[in-house]
Amino acid sequence: MMNKEQEIERISCLIIGSGPAGYTAAIYAARADLKPVVYTGMVPGGQLTQTTEVDNFPGYPKGITGPVMMEDLRAQAERFGTDVRFGYATKVDFSTDGGIHKVEIDGVKTVEAETVIIATGATAKWLGLDSEEKYNGFGVSACAVCDGFFYKGQDVAIVGAGDTAAEEATYLAKLCRKVYMLVRRDEFRASKAMVHRVNNTANIEVLYNTEAVEILGDGQVVTGVRVINNQTKNLQDLDVTGFFVAIGHKPNTELFQGILDMDETGYLITKADSTATNIPGVFACGDVQDHVFRQAITAAGTGCMSALEAERYLMAKEDVVLS
Ligand SMILES: Cc1cc2nc3c(=O)[nH]c(=O)nc-3n(C[C@H](O)[C@H](O)[C@H](O)COP(=O)(O)OP(=O)(O)OC[C@H]3O[C@@H](n4cnc5c(N)ncnc54)[C@H](O)[C@@H]3O)c2cc1C
Repeated sequence: MMNKEQEIERISCLIIGSGPAGYTAAIYAARADLKPVVYTGMVPGGQLTQTTEVDNFPGYPKGITGPVMMEDLRAQAERFGTDVRFGYATKVDFSTDGGIHKVEIDGVKTVEAETVIIATGATAKWLGLDSEEKYNGFGVSACAVCDGFFYKGQDVAIVGAGDTAAEEATYLAKLCRKVYMLVRRDEFRASKAMVHRVNNTANIEVLYNTEAVEILGDGQVVTGVRVINNQTKNLQDLDVTGFFVAIGHKPNTELFQGILDMDETGYLITKADSTATNIPGVFACGDVQDHVFRQAITAAGTGCMSALEAERYLMAKEDVVLS
């Protein structure tokens, strides 16, 4: 239950999150006259504001930096009347019978919305090294598909032992001269098929029982990685220009636990060929419901779907009232 003393506002479409999914949903919802309100959360613009070059988003033939691209998306959403506000959804009370959904913002106000589009994204997990943070975007990346191209013909390292890490290592191996794969234990967590693929890729060298202790650089970009063998305690410096972290992502879904259907790792489950959740009028788009592709363009695509589905949902509700 929401606090009765709070300021209450009634709208037709609330969008939670301001990454490519949220802003694309906003562009479509605003153009359909749903007068959407976007709450940006703590990272206005989402994950792409934490990277430098984005080379694979259609429409930018010369590439674009993540922060500038997200400013463009925001401006496009605002051009059609989207109300973009800084604020964080702190509690939700979703109506299960197609009624009004209540979302508390910053613990101080309640927005009542006929439709809610959840675009809260996911957060990449990092090792937590100071040097990793220092060179993030300058040789350190959490996305091989996004940034591998920048290291074409070069030597790189990737850390991780699951299916995603194995897949990203083989992706990098097609572009890079050599890929060191750092596996903390003496075995992979990945499926047998993926391990087989890694072991059969000539330019991947797997270093078991190995952990990164420091990302080395020249103050501007990555020049290597210092690793330790956790059994022998031997230190070794690998000459690499790219360091990829593939130890998993955490979907931002704590708020919806026990309310929306999610898989065992917390990703929201949406219906087939749809962004509809298990609650009527509540839709989910972008990385928060996609642990497979996790790209800006796929997030934007599902953002579009959410807005179109929200519009259709509202129209169907209106038809019921009129009939
Ligand atoms: C370092 C890096 C580089 C990348 N490079 C590329 C690239 O080159 N090309 C590419 O296609 N993809 C790239 N990606 C992936 C891409 O950034 C994501 O796929 C994309 O941003 C997902 O968009 P999204 O809208 O689903 O979520 P996000 O971008 O994760 O945005 C989530 C939004 O939700 C908000 N939020 C979260 N919780 C709340 C809450 N409770 N209330 C209100 N708001 C909330 C956040 O503040 C944020 O605005 C990269 C990712 C990383 C980490």
